[in-house]
Amino acid sequence: MTPQQDVDLAPFNTLALPGRAARYLAITAPGQLAATELAGSRRFVLGGGSNLVLTGDFDGLVLHMALQGKRLVKEDSEAYYIEAGAGESWPDFVQWTLRQGWPGLENLSLIPGTVGAAPIQNIGAYGLEVSERFHSLSAWDFKNRVLIDLDREACRFAYRDSLFKQQGWHLNGQLAIVSVVFRLPKAWTPILRYADLAQEFAARQSAAPTPLAIAAAVVAVRRRKLPDPAQTPNAGSFFHNPVVDAAGADALASRHPTLPRYLQPDGRYKLAAGWLIEQAGWKGKKLGPVGMYEKQALVLVNHGGATGTDVKRTMAAVQSDVKAAFAVELTPEPIFL
Ligand code: NAP
Repeated sequence: MTPQQDVDLAPFNTLALPGRAARYLAITAPGQLAATELAGSRRFVLGGGSNLVLTGDFDGLVLHMALQGKRLVKEDSEAYYIEAGAGESWPDFVQWTLRQGWPGLENLSLIPGTVGAAPIQNIGAYGLEVSERFHSLSAWDFKNRVLIDLDREACRFAYRDSLFKQQGWHLNGQLAIVSVVFRLPKAWTPILRYADLAQEFAARQSAAPTPLAIAAAVVAVRRRKLPDPAQTPNAGSFFHNPVVDAAGADALASRHPTLPRYLQPDGRYKLAAGWLIEQAGWKGKKLGPVGMYEKQALVLVNHGGATGTDVKRTMAAVQSDVKAAFAVELTPEPIFL
């Protein structure tokens, strides 16, 4: 396979940042990976570009994982097993499973990105992480030039984290995800403990929420609070929610009584990064062409014409103001290329 030369990457990142790839190849079938000599080249594996900050031109090879296809691979008394190609759109895939009558992914509706990227940062929303519906994945091993299967344990999932992130997977990593199998239990229970979702159902006066109704509620809430990347370029949540020890959380709560904090299984507390950013004065504030969204301060947006340098400048200013106000370090969620 021959890669294209000097390709514009602006259409391939949802922050719409400028940058060109010296070489670019769209992978639409696993056989292309075997047919292309990739081992020695500096490479970046691209999915939907929805969690990416492009800091300039890339002098290596961009491998755009565009593999399509979705199907029921197995059904037993307890669950449906659904496989999808890494390049399938995540929000479209979720809708498709629901239309087939296979519930379980409804809380993850409308998260931008691809199926192949979902396990990498173990996407999560409204009390559900994708690892809870994950069965296995197939990945191309660049070194040994074979497809390998990884189960849930092998992927080492954690909060917004996995083996793939831990090993700096995107840049010269050893593996590229080709397809993912999800396990959707037949025993379905709604997950409605997040306030936004609970309120949505209270407003709808729906006694018995269905998976499709929950998906519709998630979509409605997200559309209300989050910018559409097609209109306002962004990369979703820009910072991780910081997790601090109990003493640190108590000290902060005594100074800021409305501080939202959520107890974690290890006894520490998760803080809401969006709340910290808002309190630090950044909700709706801009620095040059980059600012924090006016309805959800956790989302960094490109108001037009921004570069990766502009993004880094605003990111640093937000981090510095949050640190000054709360002594908490914010770390960015997207990958920087
Ligand atoms: P929100 O409801 O305003 O809540 C703010 C933060 O508090 C969230 O980050 C959430 O943590 C946490 N939180 C709220 N209720 C909680 C509860 N009952 N138990 C534990 N933690 C709770 O947040 P939002 O910005 O509108 O986002 C809503 C959901 O969509 C969140 O789950 C968020 O993570 C998710 N989301 C995901 C992506 C992504 O994966 N790329 C992008 C945007 C939003 P968690 O983030 O840990 O849930």
